[in-house]
Amino acid sequence: MTLEQTLPLCIAGTWRLGGGARYATCYPATGEPVAWLNAASLDDVEAAVQGAHQAFLHSGWAQRKPHERATVLYRIAGLIRERAEELAQLQRQDNGKPINETRALVASAAGTFQFFAAACETLEETITPSRGDFVSMSVYEPMGVVAAITPWNSPIASEAQKVAPALAAGNAVVIKPAEITPLLALQLARICDDAGLPKGLISVLPGKGSLLGDALTRHPLVKRVSFTGGTSTGKHIAHIAADKMMPVSLELGGKSPTIVLDDADLDHAVAGVLYGIFSSSGEACIAGSRLFVARALYEPFMARLTAAAAQLRLGDPADERTQMGPLISAAHRESVERYVALGLAEGGRLRLGGQRPSGGLFDQGFFYPPTILEGLGNQQQVCQEEIFGPVLVAMPFDDEATLIEQANDSLYALAAGIWSRDYKRAWALGRKLQAGTVWINTYKQFSISTPFGGWRDSGLGREKGRLGILQYMEQKSLYWGMNEQPLAWAGVEAGQ
Ligand code: NDP
Repeated sequence: MTLEQTLPLCIAGTWRLGGGARYATCYPATGEPVAWLNAASLDDVEAAVQGAHQAFLHSGWAQRKPHERATVLYRIAGLIRERAEELAQLQRQDNGKPINETRALVASAAGTFQFFAAACETLEETITPSRGDFVSMSVYEPMGVVAAITPWNSPIASEAQKVAPALAAGNAVVIKPAEITPLLALQLARICDDAGLPKGLISVLPGKGSLLGDALTRHPLVKRVSFTGGTSTGKHIAHIAADKMMPVSLELGGKSPTIVLDDADLDHAVAGVLYGIFSSSGEACIAGSRLFVARALYEPFMARLTAAAAQLRLGDPADERTQMGPLISAAHRESVERYVALGLAEGGRLRLGGQRPSGGLFDQGFFYPPTILEGLGNQQQVCQEEIFGPVLVAMPFDDEATLIEQANDSLYALAAGIWSRDYKRAWALGRKLQAGTVWINTYKQFSISTPFGGWRDSGLGREKGRLGILQYMEQKSLYWGMNEQPLAWAGVEAGQ
């Protein structure tokens, strides 16, 4: 394909041009186009959902034995690994993340397919203790058409987390990737085709979420939505789901506290806090964006942290030494800048960053440096709202009771970090923090085998984990009568 050619979309088992407006995706490091495609139209949504429904009913996928479905998922994992470098380079262009990071995301997508293949073929249904003349069982059935709606910050990894368990469970999937990062979802559909997944079981509909994502969510044949994105979009989807009595899982935003206690190992804490907020240029739902440091340590710790943050390598995502690439778009960088200006207007001081870099690539792409604000309180807007960029707000704390109150004082409750040498103290604190994930003496580490999700405005439901497959299945109870006689109530006797 040349750049000027329009990429086809995967809709109901065929590769064809979308029916919506033509647009280009762009490389955030240079602002140059990467690919042209036509967005999907509402007719394409209809075709994709109908095609998925037909494939669910007639392809035999749902009826295949779990180990047979697993074979296809293992093949998908294998093909992702075979094409890993190509996918990682494409993802770098799609969303501007440094190449080392996109390689890790591609590897994690392969691992996710492998994991859910194993989960699928080892999933046990149960015989429940009988309380009558019957054998009672609890079994699981696939749901039908699942919609997977994903954001722009971790393409392929986000899609894999939804598509792998949904397919493993026997469903069909329609993906609505972020409008600005559609390329990896399309590649994933190619790989599914090449791995022998029956046609129509996967469709990809790039384009505006307010149009396509909304239509997909409302569609009567869509039986479950798995969404990752912003909290306001998540709430909108939850309202639609309530009207349809449709289950949804929502992985939403965060404003996670990272806590450095006075007995922390400072080398580990500095490295962990830096990684927690500045990796992925802060465009991470679990970014540790509120930092609480024991007052006695505050100055020496902040001096070390600031010096180390100033050394982070911001620049060309293709360079393997780069630690931070550009932000996703010009509009998103402006939003980050507005938050920094707001923090200053709220009385904050800049300890580091806060100015666009300039020269060379910096003049073309949407770069923003590591930025640290201080002198602010937890109640201020920059501490309460998700910035989704490389902006850390640092605050000293005096006692643990106030610390816990402040750390938990947020609409969000996605993740938290604790740095302490005293494991009993860290354990006690970790149990008191309200968050879906608490990291102790580490941060932003992930395992597909460990459930992930948020409390409160950070979401509903959990992804990952061996039982993550169950959210894409309906539970059914089966009773097998073992009576020697007809049921007594009717008064009918055997043989009469
Ligand atoms: P959005 O909520 O704006 O978008 C997410 C997806 O939803 C996109 O595909 C978007 O399409 C689509 N969408 C938009 N409006 C609707 C609608 N009305 N109905 C259905 N779908 C819709 O989030 P962002 O793309 O801005 O992503 C950043 C957010 O994602 C942050 O808040 C971040 O915290 C969160 N996130 C959460 C994670 C988690 O696991 N908890 C992980 C990663 C990110 P379009 O492209 O047109 O906008």
